[in-house]
Amino acid sequence: MTLNDCTVDGSQQRCFASFDGKGGSTSLLELADALLERQKQNWPMLVDGYAALSAARIREIRGDGWGVQLQFNPRRIMSSRAKVDPESIRRRPCFLCPGNLPQEQEAIGYRDDYLILCNPAPIFPGHRTIVHICHLPQSLPDHLGIFLQLAADFGPRMTVFYNGPLAGASAPDHLHFQAAPAGLMPVEAEILHPRKRVGAKRRDGVKIWQTTGLGRGILVIEGEKKENVAAATGDAIRALGHMTSTDQEPMLNILCTHTKEGWRLLLFPRRKHRPDAYFREGGERLLISPGAADMGGTIITPREEDFYALTPDLVSGIFREVAFDDTATAALLSLLAGKRPFI
Ligand SMILES: [Zn+2]
Repeated sequence: MTLNDCTVDGSQQRCFASFDGKGGSTSLLELADALLERQKQNWPMLVDGYAALSAARIREIRGDGWGVQLQFNPRRIMSSRAKVDPESIRRRPCFLCPGNLPQEQEAIGYRDDYLILCNPAPIFPGHRTIVHICHLPQSLPDHLGIFLQLAADFGPRMTVFYNGPLAGASAPDHLHFQAAPAGLMPVEAEILHPRKRVGAKRRDGVKIWQTTGLGRGILVIEGEKKENVAAATGDAIRALGHMTSTDQEPMLNILCTHTKEGWRLLLFPRRKHRPDAYFREGGERLLISPGAADMGGTIITPREEDFYALTPDLVSGIFREVAFDDTATAALLSLLAGKRPFI
């Protein structure tokens, strides 16, 4: 299928460049940076989004062994308020379908089936959305190869991330990934501390371990061979599905980077999409809708009252409510290790 098959009249003008991975002097990140600079000149919505990001207030909260950064960013209200129930999704036009993209939005055609877009409501400088050209449901198990390839093509300066259809994706009906500069989410540095790593297992050159003491459970998958990393990640998703008794894709978020040592994935198993406080009324409400960035320690608060209301206890409580704790993550690691022997 070509880019044109799934796009509408005029879409060719929106194709800024394409990247097929067959060599060439320009890296994917260079192309993506050039597109961003261009869109900052010719797309007012994006200019407004970056102005909002520059003006966003940041507040740090330190818990017991972990830290998060709150970002008060009113432009993210649409995403945090997104109705993601099947009926609401059916009734709205899909905002990620190529035919529904804003007129000014341009794209990089990526490896035949994807478009790399600048996110007009960024939560990080250089925040991108990578969308499939067809209206396919959000799902990782069938698309692990391209997800890992995307991290490799972007290189070590970018982190690619994924929100499961039931765990933070505001378009669960349209397959998409996101990317942002590596190292901006607090958890990316926290997991490097040796005291935060436990339970390492190895199989087929892939190392899987869990973090400890970070307030939410994280499974870390590292390896050099794409096929083996994809297989181990697929096994982890299946084990999580088994553990949470679902035949749909289990609730999860993933961050992924690729360096000369290979891939590193941070898998956040989830219990719940939104905390109960999200659905409360009045002063008890917290409009926090956690996705991959929030689990990574960049917590987006589109309302000022939530930005000031959050405390270490409240953040800790949200993590406990929506994510696995260390004990449940250890059980997941054991289940995974038991499925096929690790060395
Ligand atoms: Zn769509």
